[in-house]
Amino acid sequence: MERIGGWVRAAANVTVLTGAGISTDSGIPDFRGPQGVWTKDPSAEALSTLDTYVNDPEVRKKAWRARRDHPAWTARPNAAHEALVDLERSGKLRGIVTQNIDELHQRAGSRPDLVIEVHGTMRRVSCLSCGENAPMERALERVAAGEEDPACRSCGGILKSATISFGQALDADVFNAAVAAAADCDVFLAVGTSLGVYPVAGLCDIAMDCGARLVIVNAEPTPYDGRADAVVRDPIGAALPAIVGAA
Ligand code: ZN
Repeated sequence: MERIGGWVRAAANVTVLTGAGISTDSGIPDFRGPQGVWTKDPSAEALSTLDTYVNDPEVRKKAWRARRDHPAWTARPNAAHEALVDLERSGKLRGIVTQNIDELHQRAGSRPDLVIEVHGTMRRVSCLSCGENAPMERALERVAAGEEDPACRSCGGILKSATISFGQALDADVFNAAVAAAADCDVFLAVGTSLGVYPVAGLCDIAMDCGARLVIVNAEPTPYDGRADAVVRDPIGAALPAIVGAA
């Protein structure tokens, strides 16, 4: 930790990549971990697959119930999210690239323009036909009022959370911002992500190619462990405050 803290101390810019593992202490389960949503119920993956979502009304109804019941609505940021706010105060934080859709970084107090949500946000909905974007709250009110699969009020199209499903392209501007943050740092900290999903995992390559040290904080092994400058297996809620505290 002291060694990693030294790298962060010496860095002008630190970019952080966060995945589901940073939010599990907030009560939001990850996807592929031992207690993961998809590990426990492989059929739940269909809810996040564009094809099945578009073609199967039953999948959409199940997706709306899952959104309504999502633990993120009552979740609070944890010590790891707060550590990144401390890192921001040090003036070294170049950006937080997050695969999470829960907005817990912003709730912890991270500056919204520093949070790059490569997989979108569950707090908005967007219409797959006309692209209209609206607060999730309003759609969930319609679900609560009995609509099992609320359609777009402007065009009748299919509504979906404003998140990136399997089979859906990332937003190019958002991903370009993530690439810029990865290319422009001295330390790239990958936290709570299995680094198995591309192109996001490739941000590690970009950072290393541009001379950054790669530090991985994750309970499970990742494909990048062998090339990382340091791999930390400690719980994220303890490891991140320790790293930032040592810097
Ligand atoms: Zn529409």
